[in-house]
Amino acid sequence: MSGLPWELVCAECSSVYAGDAFRYRCDCGGTLDVQHAVTTSVSDELFDDRLRSKAPLDRSGVWRFRELVLPLSERYVCTRGEGNTPLYWSDRVARYVGLNQLGLKHEGENPTGSFKDRGMTTGMSMARYFGAEKVAVASTGNTSASAAAYAAMAGLESIVFIPDGQIAYGKLGQALAYGARTVQIAGDFDDAMRLVERMCNEDGIYLLNSVNPFRIEGQKAIGFELLQDLDWTVPDWIVLPGGNLGNNTALTKGMLELKARGIISKLPRVAVIQASGANPLHRAWHGDGVLRPVKADTIATAIKIGAPVSFTKSVRGLRALGGVVEQVTDTEILEAKAVVDAAGIGAEPASCATVAGVRKLVAAGTIPPDALVCGVLTGHVLKDPGVVVDYHTGKHPGTRANPPVRVAANLDAIRTVLSKHP
Ligand SMILES: *Cc1c(COP(=O)(O)O)cnc(C)c1O
Ligand SMILES: [Zn+2]
Repeated sequence: MSGLPWELVCAECSSVYAGDAFRYRCDCGGTLDVQHAVTTSVSDELFDDRLRSKAPLDRSGVWRFRELVLPLSERYVCTRGEGNTPLYWSDRVARYVGLNQLGLKHEGENPTGSFKDRGMTTGMSMARYFGAEKVAVASTGNTSASAAAYAAMAGLESIVFIPDGQIAYGKLGQALAYGARTVQIAGDFDDAMRLVERMCNEDGIYLLNSVNPFRIEGQKAIGFELLQDLDWTVPDWIVLPGGNLGNNTALTKGMLELKARGIISKLPRVAVIQASGANPLHRAWHGDGVLRPVKADTIATAIKIGAPVSFTKSVRGLRALGGVVEQVTDTEILEAKAVVDAAGIGAEPASCATVAGVRKLVAAGTIPPDALVCGVLTGHVLKDPGVVVDYHTGKHPGTRANPPVRVAANLDAIRTVLSKHP
């Protein structure tokens, strides 16, 4: 017994390890789940009461739910008030997807601009619990930005492996700015992931990718906070993009645990949206169920992943929640993004796979127009300024380009330009 009120259970063979085992996988190679010992009772009223509190843990949209997330001693916790993200209701976006209403939980409005902060606060706190001096991640960008920032705040050294030349500038800039040792690997994300896991195992560095089960625990709070935003009404559908598949694993695990604890009495259905050029889950789900890695290719770099680490846990959760898996093309992602952006909300490309996917599922009749649907926008619009400028200057095909206009430096010329319809 470790003294920690949880155990680690293998998702493949059900082997059990102590809660403080310094490992990310079972001996069989399977990924691990945090299984909590249910020792305290919690209620929606308790979580609502904490919204009025000034205590740092209560003010975090992750640690507010600590009994369900990670009941860890406060002295290890590294938080920066993550979560507390807005739930936007845009008529324009709802009309675009064919729904009466659509809620968009904007996880891009987290401290480093993506939902990764929710898993990073729990992961980094465990790094402190273990007394780690160094942490490492492989990343398409947002994980490295988040790890770099939280490591700096925790006083730890961070190392990030990123795929050479395929990272959005906002994300690379953050990793450098927050002081991560940044290694550009001559390969893709899947190569970087393999290498960082080996390095961490061989050199005793703490791995903070979503193979780390404590990352998943923090990310469950997206769903908890979404339900709290809805005054504990369970939506009919929750829709989110899928890359490494950690986030949908977290969402479904969290919903099942809320139901087991009696806080909700029904489960939402879940839809995972993949880019058609990075669709191993979609292929397996609509095929024989077996994961076959693909060579990933999509403009949405955050989901450009061909060998998803959390595949088994993701499929398990989707089965339990009546899940569906859809795919969308880069053109569909960019058109949906132009709508989300022009609604004044804005999000990075991978996030907008959510909106493109909802539109497709409504058109197919899978989601009825009067359903209560909430989508997760995973990252901030400023993460990938290159894609935005390329789209609006016609370097990508699209119907909603809003290019800048060059004009002479006098007001007559400017008024002439502005008097024309765009
Ligand atoms: C990480 C990330 C994803 C993919 O989440 P997974 O847990 O890897 O499926 C999607 N969008 C953004 C912006 C991300 O940063
Ligand atoms: Zn196992």
